[in-house]
Amino acid sequence: MKCTFCGKEILDGTGTIYAKKDGTTYYFCTRKCKTNMLTKKYRAHKTKWTNEYHLEKQRHMKKKMQKK
Ligand SMILES: [Zn+2]
Repeated sequence: MKCTFCGKEILDGTGTIYAKKDGTTYYFCTRKCKTNMLTKKYRAHKTKWTNEYHLEKQRHMKKKMQKK
């Protein structure tokens, strides 16, 4: 499974599972990810150290390329 916040693969026996009251389940690779997601309400694509951010950046780059 992958970390809900940063998108990194979580190895078996590591990470944290967090279940919201509405039934949504989040998986976090580290407490850092959990804190960022739940407490600071960060958006992954705006946080530089996540995979999601890099994917977003690549998408923007491709869009720019296509316009030219
Ligand atoms: Zn993570």
